Amino acid sequence: MLNIVIFGAPGSGKGTQSERIVNKYGINHISTGDVLRAEIKNGTELGKVAKGYIDQGQLLPDELIIDILASTLDSFKASKGVIFDGFPRTIPQAEALKKMLAERGQEVSTMLDLNVPEEELMRRLINRGLESGRADDNEETIKKRLNVYHTQTSPLIDWYKKEGKYQYIKGYGDMDQILTDICEAIDKVK
Ligand code: ADP
Repeated sequence: MLNIVIFGAPGSGKGTQSERIVNKYGINHISTGDVLRAEIKNGTELGKVAKGYIDQGQLLPDELIIDILASTLDSFKASKGVIFDGFPRTIPQAEALKKMLAERGQEVSTMLDLNVPEEELMRRLINRGLESGRADDNEETIKKRLNVYHTQTSPLIDWYKKEGKYQYIKGYGDMDQILTDICEAIDKVK
C-alpha cells in the first residue's frame, strides 16, 4: 500500500500534481477541499458549516474533518493506496491519520512537501480566483489562509521529519520536472 501525504501551502499545486500521481500509480485520491466544496454545492448541512469556515480562510474543526476523512477512507475498496491532499493540516490531524492507518495495518509511506515561494503562491491563487471564481481565492482570504498555513499547518514539516517520512520537492519551475521529482520520491519508498 502506498499512502502518500501531499503537503504544501495553499496554491502549491497539490491538486494538480495529485491528479497526475493518481493516473500514474492507480491509487485513490482524497482531497478534503474537494469533498467540502461538493458538500457546499449540494447544499448539505455539512456544506453550510464548511462554507462558514472556508469563506473566512479558517480551518474546519479537527474532529469534524477527521470524521469526514475516516468515512471517505472506508469507502475505498481493494485500494492500492491513497494520496492525501489537504489533510493533515494540523498536528492532531496527523496523529489521527497515523492512528487510522495503524488500525488498518498501514502507515504513511512518505510526506511530500511541495515548496513554493510566497510571492508565487499569491500570484497563482489570485489567478485561480479570476479563472475559477473560487470564493476563497480573493486577496483578503488568501492572506488569511497563508497565515493559517504558517501557524497551524507548517509545524507538520518537523512532525513528519521526526517520523522519518519527510521529502522536500521543489514546487515551482517546470511542471514536468516537478512531476519527475515527485515520482522519484515516491519510487524511493515504494
Ligand atoms: P488550498 O490548499 O488551496 O487552501 P483546499 O481546497 O485544500 O485549498 O481547502 C480549502 C479550504 O477547505 C481550507 O482553506 C479549509 O477551510 C478547508 N479544509 C480543507 N482541508 C481541511 C483540513 N484538513 N482541515 C481543516 N479544514 C480544511
